[in-house]
Amino acid sequence: MSKSPIKKPLACGLVLCSALAAGKASAASQALSHDHTQTEMGCLDASAEGQRELRLGSPVATAPAQRPRAIHPWPFPPLSIGHTSASYQDYGGQPYFHHGLDIRGNAGTPVLASVGGRVTNIENYISGNPAYWEVAILDAEGYLWQYHHVEKASIPAAIWNSYRSGTPVAAGAKLGEIFQWGNYSFGERYDHLHLNVLAVGGTYMSPFLFLESLPDQVAPAIIAAGVMQNGHDVGDREIDGPYSLYATIHDLILHTKYVVPPHRIEISVDGAAPELVWDFQSLPGKGNINAHVEEFFVPQMTCGNYTCRELTIDLGFSMDDNGIITALEQREFPTTPGPHSAVITAWDFEGNSTSKTIDWLVIKPQSVMKPTKTAN
Ligand SMILES: [Zn+2]
Repeated sequence: MSKSPIKKPLACGLVLCSALAAGKASAASQALSHDHTQTEMGCLDASAEGQRELRLGSPVATAPAQRPRAIHPWPFPPLSIGHTSASYQDYGGQPYFHHGLDIRGNAGTPVLASVGGRVTNIENYISGNPAYWEVAILDAEGYLWQYHHVEKASIPAAIWNSYRSGTPVAAGAKLGEIFQWGNYSFGERYDHLHLNVLAVGGTYMSPFLFLESLPDQVAPAIIAAGVMQNGHDVGDREIDGPYSLYATIHDLILHTKYVVPPHRIEISVDGAAPELVWDFQSLPGKGNINAHVEEFFVPQMTCGNYTCRELTIDLGFSMDDNGIITALEQREFPTTPGPHSAVITAWDFEGNSTSKTIDWLVIKPQSVMKPTKTAN
């Protein structure tokens, strides 16, 4: 397999401002004139979302990660899913798992509480930036729901009052409206609600686990797979020495361009029982959104920002049942000289799946190979 070089992501602000300056966001020039973010705040910084989570985390949630949970309505009907909790994010800082859902809806769409509970936070968590207002609700089961990118002026007095008084709000209560996002992504406005759901210890859960099914029938696509050494593809798949396998897997959820990672990946090597690579019911780093990002994804073949989405997964990624990376930190693939094969299977959250088989050849290391006869 030959792979195209991956452009390193530019800093967010540069991407946004240069794209706007060049008029690439053509579909919404009219909307732009009303875009306070551009005129008043300069460029939004998506990396700030990740930095803030890293800094504060959340000690509030009390519900365990593993148990049956109630299913709730969406805060509004999703236009599509822009990112899942598994999405790779790199805006020029430290890469991180997106850790929540970007639920796309038009600016001004009312955001209704999926589940009732106590309002535990209303905060401009990137101080002074109007894009980063949070309304957080702790539900009766102990899960913390963080609704991000709510327009401050749209947060009803009743929600502020609940926050101050501790009086719970009911499911379906209006929490506010979707902020008009300053950024475009792949030619579309990126207005969205970012929803995190946290369990005890600040573990980021997949919000899909808590929400009604989506009419998503598009299976993930394994668009490339191969053998790699040191993060780079080995083109002829003839291996000598330590190696891993990779797969570039793209999923789409109610959209044609907003690529997201699969929800679950397994690999079966040489006919053995399938082994789990990861299932994104929760993040591999639990409450740490930076942990294991560059072990799960192959940085040299991955990007994730407003203009680039390429998602290549290291199939050697392996953790034990407690979510601890094993001593080897990597799944060991066969070293016996000869042909080998593996079946890679990827699922989205709705259970759509796809599989791909790859073959490779382990050759004897040069150091132990017998000298070959020289011709004459
Ligand atoms: Zn987001």
